[in-house]
Amino acid sequence: MKILDSRRAIMWLSVLILLGHVTAWSQSPAPTHDQPNQTIPDRLTELRDAFVTKAEKSGIKCRIQPPTIVLTDIASFGNYDPETNTLRTPLWSQFKHQEKTLFMSLAGPNASDEAAQVIFERGTHSWVFIHEMGHWWQTCVNANVGRSHYRVEYDANRIAAAYWREVNPQLMESLASGFDHILAGSPNPVPSGQDPEAYFNHNYEKLAGSPEYTWFQAHMIAGVNAEVPPPSFLQALYEPGK
Ligand SMILES: [Zn+2]
Repeated sequence: MKILDSRRAIMWLSVLILLGHVTAWSQSPAPTHDQPNQTIPDRLTELRDAFVTKAEKSGIKCRIQPPTIVLTDIASFGNYDPETNTLRTPLWSQFKHQEKTLFMSLAGPNASDEAAQVIFERGTHSWVFIHEMGHWWQTCVNANVGRSHYRVEYDANRIAAAYWREVNPQLMESLASGFDHILAGSPNPVPSGQDPEAYFNHNYEKLAGSPEYTWFQAHMIAGVNAEVPPPSFLQALYEPGK
């Protein structure tokens, strides 16, 4: 689990770095429905509970409790551990100077601490957090059984995209354009003539944590966003992507 966690940390970090390079994305903070004085722990608890409530509208109750949120300065920006039913994510205030510097540079020249925090919050506490809630759901309903590495990741992205399309379409549009830029700006690591999905599954151990892994996440998200008609959130939960 430790190795997997650090690999995933690198993966999300490179996604956030690349998203930060999308100028339009970083300069136009998407609106949120946050209460102005709401603390981040309260907001994350509310976000978790909103996800659970929305998922249970289907009439099926998850066989496990909503995950315990642990706010800790882990190397990863988000991780769901099915063994302890824990979703770990860092708080901006827990970051050391060096970690903040990265987001300051993403936010642009002479960026304020607040501007850097906006980048951090959007990537980590919106996209990654809900992606990890998707993994919680997969654990709830044993959706991972018989699914390949690619499909498990694809479905978590599909759940996250469907969630944000319904809850905050503007944020989802902004995230989608960020991921499109990543795809357009990164070299395709799949050898010509090979299928990306088969290649990913075959080379999973080698790819996890590499810059190529980011390309695959962006490729999956582009696939998710190209689905016509787009699945509703409940469809994304109950009918895995093809
Ligand atoms: Zn994942």
